[in-house]
Amino acid sequence: MDMTGENIIKRKKYDFEVQISDQACLNIADRGNCLSCGRSRKWFCYDCARWSSGFDGKKVPRVSLPFPLHILKHNIEVSGKSTALHAVMLVNSPCKYHVYPRIPDYSKMARPDSENPNIWVLYPSKTAKPVREIVEDFHLNCSAENSSYSFEEFCKIIELDLLVVVDGTWTQIHDFLDDFRIKSAKSVRFVKLVEIYETTFWRPQGKLPKSYLATIEALFYFMKELQLEFAKFTAAKCLSNEDEHKFDNLLFFYDFMLKCVTGRGSNPLASSPKDSS
Ligand SMILES: [Zn+2]
Repeated sequence: MDMTGENIIKRKKYDFEVQISDQACLNIADRGNCLSCGRSRKWFCYDCARWSSGFDGKKVPRVSLPFPLHILKHNIEVSGKSTALHAVMLVNSPCKYHVYPRIPDYSKMARPDSENPNIWVLYPSKTAKPVREIVEDFHLNCSAENSSYSFEEFCKIIELDLLVVVDGTWTQIHDFLDDFRIKSAKSVRFVKLVEIYETTFWRPQGKLPKSYLATIEALFYFMKELQLEFAKFTAAKCLSNEDEHKFDNLLFFYDFMLKCVTGRGSNPLASSPKDSS
């Protein structure tokens, strides 16, 4: 275990208390082969987004998001290092995974009512606004009368039709941001997190600051911040336990791997470090 791992254990692990489902199924899983490409994989294939033959994917808790999710990964980014696939395997609401340069043309995308979809891109570009600020732009009153609104309805009110999460290094991101298929879309908002969180990602990230989050961490924190805004809108003093933790399992794989590399669990990844993300 390296010093980074030691530091992770000593500090608070996540910035919110999380309740993650039993991960025993991950511990006992055998290594198998990807049913598409045939490569040896633990749990799932990060190239094909399919469960491995040695693992029963039905045992994994699924997470439902109140809006469709697109994940865009740069083709230079190494799939095995990316946590973006965690979301693809865990989310059971509409979720698409695209590898750059094969990404959708967002400028031509239309909703069922023929209007342009309101797209939020989660990436801290220069023009990105924090979640809270975007919500405030809608001048929503905090009121007990709003308490009957669901989280899904709230997302419609704040014009969040589609969330796009960009997965790649800082230099690769410019390819996305300069791409006309995103740039020329009619209604795109760049969004960043309100708070600064420290990553717990175990892979060395060169000179990048600790605030550079793994993709699945960024998505998790985004959902938490959006929930806080929803609670304000509905004047809820606190969310129910079920609601508060409904997105925690986005960290199902991540949390397990983190425990393995920081020495708090047996390490099924040890024999195959290349597959550890
Ligand atoms: Zn495969």
